[in-house]
Amino acid sequence: MRGLGEFRLLRRLRAKSPPLPPAVLAGMGDDAAVLQPSPGFALVATVDVLVEGKDFHWEWCPAEAVGHKGLTVSLSDVGAMGAIPRYALVALGLPARTPVKRVDALYRGIWEAAEASGVAVVGGDLSEAPCLILSVTLIGEGETDHLIRRSGAKVGETIWVTGPLGRAAAGLCALKAGYRPERSAVKGRRATHIPPKARKAIRETIRAQLYPVARYREGRILAEAGIATAMIDLSDGLASDLTRLAEESRVGARIFADRIPVDPSTRQVAELVGLDPLRLALGGGEDFELLFTSGAASAAIEDALARKGFARPHAVGEICPTDERLTLVGPRGRQEPLGSGFEHFR
Ligand SMILES: [Mg+2]
Repeated sequence: MRGLGEFRLLRRLRAKSPPLPPAVLAGMGDDAAVLQPSPGFALVATVDVLVEGKDFHWEWCPAEAVGHKGLTVSLSDVGAMGAIPRYALVALGLPARTPVKRVDALYRGIWEAAEASGVAVVGGDLSEAPCLILSVTLIGEGETDHLIRRSGAKVGETIWVTGPLGRAAAGLCALKAGYRPERSAVKGRRATHIPPKARKAIRETIRAQLYPVARYREGRILAEAGIATAMIDLSDGLASDLTRLAEESRVGARIFADRIPVDPSTRQVAELVGLDPLRLALGGGEDFELLFTSGAASAAIEDALARKGFARPHAVGEICPTDERLTLVGPRGRQEPLGSGFEHFR
């Protein structure tokens, strides 16, 4: 980076950036981007930050994955509103020693995720920083009466999730334990050979951790069909994110442990690293599936997503009155309070 400098790097990025859609009246190169909103749509805006050493580690996270995730976490938030993601602004803090190849790879990750989701990167900023910091602001839009808030859940409604939980957390645990997707032995311990049957599970969960998929398309369908009454994306874990939704809706909730979708790969990796897969599903974050509530019939909800080619969602619990708080119901009916999962600064 030292040899290139901020302005040459910006020019280089601008030259490589994909073409912009007509609704972008001015993109990179002016003081601010000029965006033409679709008639009758409200704007939805969100920002997220990834910090080296805290949110990702170069030891196991390729720069492309950092870029991909930087955009995905915001795509997921826009999706949880039932909105369509449109424009991104990218702020990047970099140590001067950062190799240019790393910056290129990071942007490749951002642009690939942007292109796949129809998002135009319309501006950004660069600065020197003690470690790499990536912040993505994402602007989306949606009809005001279709946008889904966290506050709309009602007593008696069913709680749904769009896909399996705990995979990303299992992947992170595998990485921390020294497993790598491309290796047949645990890193640093040649003798610990990984059985071929477990390799696929390790690869899948690590991929879920490094290259998460945001469910904004599903969020949009649930919003347009008027199915979801409240929605949140699972960035911090089911227990923590459901707590926030319940607080905003002023309700309690009951989750049934045996209905929480945990896929075989997650179970296999949990066993390898000696963790309870249910704890990964409840407390592990970064699955980026959507959690939503609905009073509609199960078949109608499942069909709305399945008809458009998406996975069938899973009913995991029900909304109850506030005084019942948040409860986890075990397989034999035993009840315990649902913990609140991962939180920053704690
Ligand atoms: Mg969120």
